[in-house]
Amino acid sequence: MECVNLIVGAGVSGATLARKLAEEKNQKIIVIDSKSHIGGNCYDYRDKNGIMIHQYGSHIFHTSDEKVWSFVRRFTDFNQYMHKVIAIIDGVETTIPFNFNTLYDVFPTTLAKRLEEKLLAKFAYNKKVPILEFQKQDDEDLKFLANYVYEKVFLHYTTKQWGVSPNEVAGAVTARVPVYLSKDNRYFQDKYQGIPLEGYTRMVENMLNHPNIEVRLNTDYKTVKEHFDRIFYTGAIDEFFNYEFGQLPYRSVYFKFEEYDREFYQKNSVVNYPCNYDFTRIHEYKHYLQDKSAKTVIAKEYSEFFELGKNERYYPIPNEETEKLYARYYEKAQTLPNVYFLGRLGDYKYYDMDKAIKRALELFESIQGE
Ligand code: UDP
Repeated sequence: MECVNLIVGAGVSGATLARKLAEEKNQKIIVIDSKSHIGGNCYDYRDKNGIMIHQYGSHIFHTSDEKVWSFVRRFTDFNQYMHKVIAIIDGVETTIPFNFNTLYDVFPTTLAKRLEEKLLAKFAYNKKVPILEFQKQDDEDLKFLANYVYEKVFLHYTTKQWGVSPNEVAGAVTARVPVYLSKDNRYFQDKYQGIPLEGYTRMVENMLNHPNIEVRLNTDYKTVKEHFDRIFYTGAIDEFFNYEFGQLPYRSVYFKFEEYDREFYQKNSVVNYPCNYDFTRIHEYKHYLQDKSAKTVIAKEYSEFFELGKNERYYPIPNEETEKLYARYYEKAQTLPNVYFLGRLGDYKYYDMDKAIKRALELFESIQGE
């Protein structure tokens, strides 16, 4: 008898798995999503000015994984955009991650030079050092530098973004943006990066465009009554189990969109405000695909806790307590035959897009014999 699969969630995880099952297993797949659009939080659309808006904040595709890269390129071409982030630190415009260029932007040359020499004597050029490790300095000058970077780059930004200080979130979170002993101003050093030429929604649409795949939007998992041989769930794992062990916490973000009657608002796609204002960063989307318009649209990003029914889940909050809670759900999930969890919400992991796709590809490989 033909195997029929239900995939809950039409984001990159669900779409990747759907495509693999449809194409390589020739199985039927129903993909449902409670939202009115595909793409999950990667969803983008062109607004009335022709600007490609990333509704849920900037998404930059970057990967060093050959399999992931060759998979996504079947569904879209990418431009050669290399992401850089500008930050305003005490009114000075500079680069994030903090690197040797930042050093010279924020300090007088003689001091920057002294710090640079000390850094090079201690660390290999091109090394990436997470801030929590970088703080462990003996030298007075380097101690001063570490305190400066902690305070000006990480402390306030992380407090705004996570509601707690950098010491209270898992080290892996701030390690995503290490101190970078380099003059490379890019945010990511992956081998491949870029923006899909027709956007992420189109990329996901192309993944889902297969005769074996049926997509149903505005459809809540709880309303589905049919029988399925297998369920792949990319929604929140705690919700699947009706929160029986308690809720897994998430951070949410919201955006205040503003339209301006001028070509550009800022000179970069993302400008971080680590020390000032209550938003964390400002996105100006037209930079990504060099959209031509006399107007521009920006989004100021604010962070808050996720609350059921009020806002969306964006970021799992990795720490010891949540790991333990997640482990209980994970264990329970293992007891269910033919139900699999994946994606940021299903795995409760802070995946980037490429990691979510990699996870879906690996899950597909792991169920080959089943
Ligand atoms: N971060 C920071 N200051 C910055 C940029 C990042 O403190 O200027 C910290 C903050 O805790 C943030 C984390 O590094 O949540 C990861 O940043 P990233 O840009 O990777 O976050 P994402 O783009 O996934 O929201």
